[in-house]
Amino acid sequence: MAEIKLDRVDKIYSGGVKAVDGLDLTIEDGEFMVLVGPSGCGKSTALRMIAGLEEISGGKISIGGQVVNDLAPKDRDIAMVFQNYALYPHMTVEQNLAFGLKLRGTPKSEIKQKVLEAAKMLGLEQFLSRKPAALSGGQRQRVAMGRAIVREPQAFLMDEPLSNLDAKLRVSMRASLSQLHERLGVTTVYVTHDQIEAMTLGSRVCVLREGKLQQVDTPQRLFDNP
Ligand code: ADP
Ligand code: ADP
Repeated sequence: MAEIKLDRVDKIYSGGVKAVDGLDLTIEDGEFMVLVGPSGCGKSTALRMIAGLEEISGGKISIGGQVVNDLAPKDRDIAMVFQNYALYPHMTVEQNLAFGLKLRGTPKSEIKQKVLEAAKMLGLEQFLSRKPAALSGGQRQRVAMGRAIVREPQAFLMDEPLSNLDAKLRVSMRASLSQLHERLGVTTVYVTHDQIEAMTLGSRVCVLREGKLQQVDTPQRLFDNP
């Protein structure tokens, strides 16, 4: 777990679009921060800069007190889940969940225990021997989340992870995500354009507009003072 700090962060794309403009934001240790706002307001760009997938044009980002501006994604202790679940199709759910730990040389018995724990938290125990093709969309996204959190990263980043799911599934996935966060307490940054999602998931919500921070507060206070 770690604090994430954005200090006057800018992103100017080649072509001159200023996608993020002087963003100052501290995401506290263990917090569930939602970045919300209309399409094009810079949410994804901000998240991708935290992940190291997009170069920072100005300012500073630190994770756990370490400035990460020049660190490659693999050298940042973060996990990310996107809208499109990129699971390994030829591997079972168990192998998908274990993959990151295996790469790190985690002992076999520890992998087994951690994979089981993650599968339990996400309701995937009965699917461990299935391949992704034999899972529903919601189950696949659960595997993607399990794979991200199983190695206990300092920060968990999600970009519209539920937007490919139908409305009913989104509601149950929101509940699962809240439970997951409650158990793990991992510092989380979650991007969505859906205000209901933002208000139900966030311990705090950051509203962006044209690359700038418009408001940041708890859902309750944002609801009281829109
Ligand atoms: P959001 O996630 O809120 O929809 P984005 O961060 O995707 O917003 O985009 C913010 C702005 O930056 C938009 O104007 C978008 O068109 C522009 N943008 C995003 N990615 C790129 C890119 N790779 N190159 C140029 N402009 C981009
Ligand atoms: P979102 O709004 O969910 O971020 P978009 O459909 O705007 O998604 O963007 C999808 C992809 O295209 C992203 O990788 C983004 O960086 C890129 N992109 C967005 N706008 C532009 C742009 N104006 N020029 C080049 N790439 C862009």
